[in-house]
Amino acid sequence: MPAETFEFQVEARQLLQLMIHSIYSNKDVFLRELVSNASDALDKLRLEKLRDDALDADVSDLHIEIDIDKDARTLTVRDNGIGMSYDEVGQLIGTIANSGTAKFLQELREAKDEAGAEGLIGQFGVGFYSGFMVADEVTLVTRRAGEEQGTRWTSRGEGTYTLERTDDAPQGTAITLHLKPADPENQLHDYTSPWKIREIVKRYSDFITWPIRMVPETSGEDDGTPEPETLNSTKALWARPRDEVSDDEYHELYKHIGHDWREPLETIRLQAEGTFEYQALLFLPAHAPHDLFTRDFKRGVQLYVKRVFIMDDCEALLPPYLRFVKGVVDAADLSLNVSREILQQDRHIEMMRRRLTKKVLSTVKDMMAKDQERYGTFWREFGTVLKEGLVTDPENRDALLAVASFASTHHDTEPTTLKQYVERMKDGQEDIYYLTGESRQSIENSPHMEAFRERGIEVLLLTDAVDEVWADAVGEFDGKKLRSVAKGRIDLAAEGEEASGDEREQRTEEYAELLGWMKERLDEDIKEVRLSSRLTVSPACVVSDAQDLTPALENMYRAMGQEVPRAKRILELNPDHQLVKGLNRAFKEREDRTELAETAEVLHGLAVLAEGGQPKEPARFVKLMADRLERTL
Ligand code: ADP
Repeated sequence: MPAETFEFQVEARQLLQLMIHSIYSNKDVFLRELVSNASDALDKLRLEKLRDDALDADVSDLHIEIDIDKDARTLTVRDNGIGMSYDEVGQLIGTIANSGTAKFLQELREAKDEAGAEGLIGQFGVGFYSGFMVADEVTLVTRRAGEEQGTRWTSRGEGTYTLERTDDAPQGTAITLHLKPADPENQLHDYTSPWKIREIVKRYSDFITWPIRMVPETSGEDDGTPEPETLNSTKALWARPRDEVSDDEYHELYKHIGHDWREPLETIRLQAEGTFEYQALLFLPAHAPHDLFTRDFKRGVQLYVKRVFIMDDCEALLPPYLRFVKGVVDAADLSLNVSREILQQDRHIEMMRRRLTKKVLSTVKDMMAKDQERYGTFWREFGTVLKEGLVTDPENRDALLAVASFASTHHDTEPTTLKQYVERMKDGQEDIYYLTGESRQSIENSPHMEAFRERGIEVLLLTDAVDEVWADAVGEFDGKKLRSVAKGRIDLAAEGEEASGDEREQRTEEYAELLGWMKERLDEDIKEVRLSSRLTVSPACVVSDAQDLTPALENMYRAMGQEVPRAKRILELNPDHQLVKGLNRAFKEREDRTELAETAEVLHGLAVLAEGGQPKEPARFVKLMADRLERTL
């Protein structure tokens, strides 16, 4: 069958362009990417053979081989792993499966500096394509283990590739890079130099557990076949004594399994002895991946059993709110055939998950105590995800609350912990106050904040969707209730200052009739109209009853497909505001209250608008407002 020519998918073409024009300054890493893929292919074959002994594949000497041909200026990375079928090559190499790629490319175009661009590339595992940083043509010959026919893929990276079937491909994959012409100015990047290859492998791929061999070139005068040389130490990092492994080595392993080209924020090692033995090597990344909140985010760490790779993305080992944690867990006493379903129910795995979870949280706590800046980075990137744990993991709630921090009115930019908040609480203040909303600015300008601002009472400013849920679920911290300033009765006067009961009673009496009448007029949406002690500037605000869901929560439950009745709100009026005073006066004087009913409606609409909502009938609201404004001219 003749070679067929195909076009790269648009995104793939864009990525290739980026590689060819190499925005990445450290080109050496192409080799790490190819070795990393080869290592995965060997893992996959070993596993497939374990599960299916009948598979017609040779697993007796699994390894990676690097061949240099100085004269032809080619470099070949070969593995005898799982290989790819004809269809797989087209799917895996010609397209980019990652759904976030379009977004990635856009971000990449917008990235202002090179470091930013490098960082972005790292998030997207562009692995194989990185060969085009150093080669002007790439050939891939592969045969899937168990199949007879192989496939040859060739491309110059310029929009098209060819596919052709071949009969003489060995099992596994060989990728041959036709290197770009040598740069006489820059000998450092001569990838036909065995010295250079040795150095790159040692630096980036030493932890790979499969042997990476290099066959020295046979020069014309030599006779006999040269012995291949193994370039890496082939020992699993987590099985080596801790003091023998450098930070750099850990970081390279992280990059391999985390598909991240950047350093991790923190490396965590854990060794469990006893009846159920395991070793864990976990990493906290320094950046949240772009798809952390998408449904198909692949979570979980790699599972090994006695150094044998078993699976990627093993969800059972960490709770969903730690889905950003990367790493390896190597267990001594699990069956090699263990399935995801079994893992979900296994008692030992459950114990492991609890231990690993506590270890991650205690690491964050240490980070908080020792290195504020690092903790700050961590919380900025992953705080939102961790807060999910406040709802879903009551067992670790206290540990989570201890490492959580929040924006607050105390400081414009520095977040506060709950402990610090409590230490700053005013004499007589009993509760921890918070308000949720879209943005810091919209919360700060909310009428609900007025009395708090005036009295200098600190309020936590919560802007994540999950905030309402956890604040509701957690309820209290250190014996202090968590209270939304937009819910229930807030009576700050009772908390310390001039609690002049008489005065208030008198007022309530003064307004009693108006409040009752307004309640009737607004009955459809409002369950109560009352005087407010929250407001100092605004005429009115709406609040939720203490036990009711807030509108934001109602919407969230609805978005999740649950039926929730709409809770009626409470309208609070500011008795010191001229508009409210005037309304009360007019109410007492006038017989015809048609106009006043409209004003009451406007007042309600204003309160709804102020908290970021929409008046029920916007067009009618605008008409009523315009009408009233006109009369001021
Ligand atoms: P990634 O490794 O991030 O998935 P790549 O573009 O490097 O992205 O590779 C795409 C896919 O091609 C891999 O996921 C794998 O399925 C397949 N692949 C790449 N290299 C090899 C190889 N040496 N052997 C078998 N499959 C490979």
